[in-house]
Formats: sequence, structure tokens, C-alpha cells
Amino acid sequence: MITRRKLLRHLSATPVIGSLFGTGIWSSSVFGRSVEKAKTRDLFEELGVTPVINAGVTMTFLSGSLMRPEVMEAINSTSHDFANMHELQDRVGEKIAEMLKVEAAMVTSGAACAMVLGTAATITGTDEEKRLLIPNLPGPRPEVIMQKSHRYVFDQAITTTGARIVEVEGPEEMEKAFTENTVMALFFNAAGRSSISHEQFVEIAKRHQVPSFIDAAADVPPVENLFKYQKIGFDLITFSGGKMIRGPQSAGLLYGRKDLIEAAKLNHSPYEAPIGRPMKVNKEELFGMYAALKAYLELDHDAEWQEWLDRADRIRTQLETIAGVQGETHISPGPANAFPSLLVSWDQEKVKITPREVYDALKAENPSIVTNVRRMEGGQSQLSVGVVLLRPEQVDYVAKRIKSILVKAES
Ligand SMILES: *Cc1c(COP(=O)(O)O)cnc(C)c1O
Repeated sequence: MITRRKLLRHLSATPVIGSLFGTGIWSSSVFGRSVEKAKTRDLFEELGVTPVINAGVTMTFLSGSLMRPEVMEAINSTSHDFANMHELQDRVGEKIAEMLKVEAAMVTSGAACAMVLGTAATITGTDEEKRLLIPNLPGPRPEVIMQKSHRYVFDQAITTTGARIVEVEGPEEMEKAFTENTVMALFFNAAGRSSISHEQFVEIAKRHQVPSFIDAAADVPPVENLFKYQKIGFDLITFSGGKMIRGPQSAGLLYGRKDLIEAAKLNHSPYEAPIGRPMKVNKEELFGMYAALKAYLELDHDAEWQEWLDRADRIRTQLETIAGVQGETHISPGPANAFPSLLVSWDQEKVKITPREVYDALKAENPSIVTNVRRMEGGQSQLSVGVVLLRPEQVDYVAKRIKSILVKAES
């Protein structure tokens, strides 16, 4: 028997680590050690990267979300062994489908990738030749129907497949828009304005036997939204993994109809050459996404909501000790970012600084604190302080920093 300690001693005396491979006993000790070492190493400092305190909402350019401890545990505890990626995607997908009460599911490289793969699935099905040719299929371009008011920056993912977008306004126009080239109908959940309701949209698409897809990437909380759209009848649904579900930022969920998920998998890595090959999800992200969703579903959502309200209150109380400063908890109506934040305003005769200047000052600090400026009607603005992405110990720190900037501006 070689004990862990003996192995570690052996390791430090062995110049060529490779010589240990093949003994079958290297994994946890070797990688366990390197993980322990990583904890004491400050890579932010080593690389000169400014750490950010996110007093806003999940933003892709601010690295999305912080992964839950369960996710880090899944990543670390599975990094020691290889896996067959087909098998792993299948098993993870089955579990996710079970959790979300749908036929099938898969982990994608973010919601944007889910949109590419979902669209590709409706174009190629399981046809081997088509999936090797896409996005350069012969013949007329496949068509995806969208409401005019739903056009957005992410629909580039649709045209990436070679499809073109056909815009409609209202149920009647949608009804007439179907041709023999129509492959899918896409609904952007957070569009704000819809000329066709979810139910009508699904019903019309079904009548024409065309799959409907809903992009609800940023639309939890509430957790119920993860179950809502399959009940309405959407065939494909996507959510980002790296927003409020707090999985890996580069992971996402695609779920719904089994035949379409199977076709989407064929268009993805680890198959070689299909359209999704550059949108690979790694093994740890697959395990991590599963762990993130499981933890998110098991969370006490009421307690979390109350914690967010308490945080907003806590910051408000500290800021309102300054004369003329007022805070108000605001709950965004959603569907994206539907959670509380604190809106702060002040009498600028007394506290001579604008919300924009406070925003800039906080952002320039190290660690950088990123808030938002919310413009109101009449040209006024407020400082919006997000609370849901703060680590517990950052709540008072953020309050203290804002307070110090406001106090300095007092006349
Ligand atoms: C964030 C977002 C996406 C992209 O999601 P990723 O997971 O970052 O790929 C797509 N659609 C909407 C509405 C989003 O908010």
C-alpha cells in the first residue's frame, strides 16, 4: 500500500511526474495538492486584474455570476478522471430532463449556443449529410419566424446556421408567414412588447407543425419559469447557466422535445465538423451545470428573496443617516432580472454629486464596485445598487463605500 503521504513525498522527489501515470494511484493526491496550492495564490494580483464587486445584475462582460460552492465541488471532484463525453452528456441530460419535467435536455455552451444548436436541429434533423454541410446547404435558405418587436442582438445565433429571419407582427401575419422553408418560430421572452401571446404563438406554430423555441436566458427568478414554457407547449427552451442559476458562465441549458434534442446533440461537440464543434462544453462544465441546476432547484427561494430584501434595507438604513439621502427597494418586473435592488437618490443641493459621478467613483476603486445609474422621467437619475450578486460580507462594505463618497460631497 502506498499512502497518500508517501505518494506526496515520492512526488516531490520525482522530477518527471509522468512516471507516476500508469500506477493508477496518482489522481486525487496529485491534483488535490495542486488545488490546495491554488488557494494560496492570488491570480488577480499576479496578472494585475482588478477584482469587481458586482452591485448590479448578471452581466456577461462582468463574468456573469459567481458559481455556487456545489458547482466548484462538482468541477474539482470530477477533474481527476476522463469520461466519454457522449455518455456524460446523455446522463447529465437525462437527469436535467427529469428535474425540469421534459422529454430531453442537454448542456450547451451558453444560451447563445443553445439557439444555434436548436435552430440547426430543426434544419438538419438527424441527416448526416445536412449536418456536415450546414450552414451551406444547397437550395433556399431555411426560415425562422420572429415577431418584429422581438428582434435582438442574440438572433445572430439564428442566422449563423444559414437561416434567415422572417419578421411578423400579430397573429394574422404569423399565420401567413409559413412556407415550405419554415423550420422554426422563435420567441424572445424578455422582449417587453409582444403582438402575439405565448399561447397563440405556440398554437399557430403547432398548427403548421413547426417547432417553437423560447429564449428565456436571463428569466429566473422566479424558479417556476424553468417549468413554465414547456407547460405552454414550447418545443425548445433555453436558459443561461451562468446567470442566476449560478453555474459555469459558459454553460447553458437546452431542453424540450426529445427528437430535437437528439438532433441538437448531433450538431454539437464531441461530433467532429458540425456547426456546434467550436461551441464545446467541457466535462467539468457538464458536471458543474448539473450540480448548479440541482442546487438551484433545492434552494429555499423564499428565504433567499427575504435575504435580498434585508440586504437592500441594510444598505438603505446606512445611507439614510446622511441628511437628504433616500433609498427605496425596487423590484424589477422582469421577465429578466426580476429581483430587488436599492434605488438611491439625494438632494443635490445638500449632497453635491450626481449619481453618475458616484457610479464612476465606485467603479474606479480597487476592488471596483459596479453599480448602475437609472434614468427617471424628467431627466433625473438615481443610483441603482444591486444586492443579489454580493457576497454576504460585501453588503456592508458597499454601503460604507457609497456612504463615504456621499459624505465627502456634503456641503
Ligand atoms: C444572456 C442572454 C443570452 C446569451 O446567453 P449566454 O448564456 O451568455 O450564451 C441570450 N439571450 C438572452 C435574452 C440573454 O439574456
